[in-house]
Amino acid sequence: MTNNTPLTLYNTLTRKKEVFKPINSEKVTCYSCGPTVYWYAHIGNLRAYVFTDVLRRTLEYNNYTVQHVMNITDFGHLESDADEGEDKMTKGLKREGMAVTMNNMQKLADMYTNAFFTDLQRLNIITPEITPRASNHIQEDIQLIQQLERKGYAYHTDDGIYFDTQQLADYGKLANHQQTEEKAETYSRVQHTEKKHQRDFALWKFNNNLGWDSPWGYGFPGWHIECSVMSTQYLGQPFDIHTGGIDHIQVHHTNEIAQSETAYEMPMAYYWLHNAFIQVNSSKMAKSEGNILIMNDLIEKGIQPLAFKYLCFTAHYRSELNVTDQSLAAAQRSYYRLKDILVECMEDDSEFDSDMADKYRQQFKAAINDDLNTAEALAVVWDLIRSDVPDSLKYYLVEEFDQVLGLQLTEPESFDVPEEVQELVERREQFRQEQRFAEADQLREEIKEKGFWVEDAEDGPKLRTLPSHSQRI
Ligand code: AMP
Ligand code: ZN
Repeated sequence: MTNNTPLTLYNTLTRKKEVFKPINSEKVTCYSCGPTVYWYAHIGNLRAYVFTDVLRRTLEYNNYTVQHVMNITDFGHLESDADEGEDKMTKGLKREGMAVTMNNMQKLADMYTNAFFTDLQRLNIITPEITPRASNHIQEDIQLIQQLERKGYAYHTDDGIYFDTQQLADYGKLANHQQTEEKAETYSRVQHTEKKHQRDFALWKFNNNLGWDSPWGYGFPGWHIECSVMSTQYLGQPFDIHTGGIDHIQVHHTNEIAQSETAYEMPMAYYWLHNAFIQVNSSKMAKSEGNILIMNDLIEKGIQPLAFKYLCFTAHYRSELNVTDQSLAAAQRSYYRLKDILVECMEDDSEFDSDMADKYRQQFKAAINDDLNTAEALAVVWDLIRSDVPDSLKYYLVEEFDQVLGLQLTEPESFDVPEEVQELVERREQFRQEQRFAEADQLREEIKEKGFWVEDAEDGPKLRTLPSHSQRI
């Protein structure tokens, strides 16, 4: 490759795009805040992991080896960023009608951790090298809190141990708190009388019934401490990249930095990357709106997980992405069109010009190395597909680009259609010809239950695979 466009990434910490320079010239260390496994991941959460996957694959495309850690939060984690209220795992237990015990919390966590890994697999997301569970790191959490206590940064209140943020001159540097300073509600919605400052956060919370023993009493670690502990334990400090959704900038990542940098007196990580949110029909996705979508909901709509991944790539990871039935269907059409064209390209084995290959390769690399501009990278793929270069070259290059996109673009969908499904497809087509659309729709549902989706192409119905009902999680 002649042109070597350097990889640039937008760093929330410095508020600008920077040329990426890792601590070790070959191996990149990356930590991503993982899911709280109290329910299925929703498509907003999944966008965060589609983003970290393309980040990881881009680093590999730039010849780095990546050591990626993503934690699994399997206890605690309050609904809001505050330290008060009921935690998500307890809410999850109540929702499932399970008694609130530590044992059941583990059962619930196991169930939804499995579901989460199934989602990652469906999205062809490379599983991070290390996926530690928070509940396996309580002793290390306690040690870190003790270290902060020894240094004089921790104090007691009636309900826990808190971090004294007023002792840090640069507290809030990630979120640029100086500029939004003293908006107390940013930190905590509930006035806590014993806290020295509203923004001080819990390192340990007392609980008489649940949790673990500690030098301060029974209870739970605060929810920021696990990421400080697990990132340092598996990656060292400082490490290269820390990722998460933008909601983590103000509180969670700010407090991770406060803990880790106070304890070890060195930077926690050099590059802080954050993905923007998904909206559904232009509204915030929220329980109160009743519009939370999970992967199973997309499958119910006949949307392939990888078509959703394709949709994620049509927007930059730092822009909001609006998901609608129309945008999902349009992404799926483009995705399958691309795959169908590539199946045809596979047949061709003619020679091609390597200069021509370099031209497209440079364009693709320039796009993806520009702070992971996936929309531009997809545009390069389409330019190539529409060009008059030999099909063999199209196939060869897309196969290479797909190492970054992870869309399985050159993997033909090979499947056997059971006879009963074939019969349903034929009967449905018959109904369509007779304009008996309600009956045709009914059959489409039956076909979907069996794990197939019918697409009505110009040259007749085409079958695609979907997880069948029995395989849905
Ligand atoms: P949680 O399980 O709540 O800790 O969230 C897991 C990840 O998903 C975090 O990185 C969040 O910042 C991210 N996230 C949560 N909601 C959304 C959303 N609507 N769109 C994009 N990312 C989100
Ligand atoms: Zn975290």
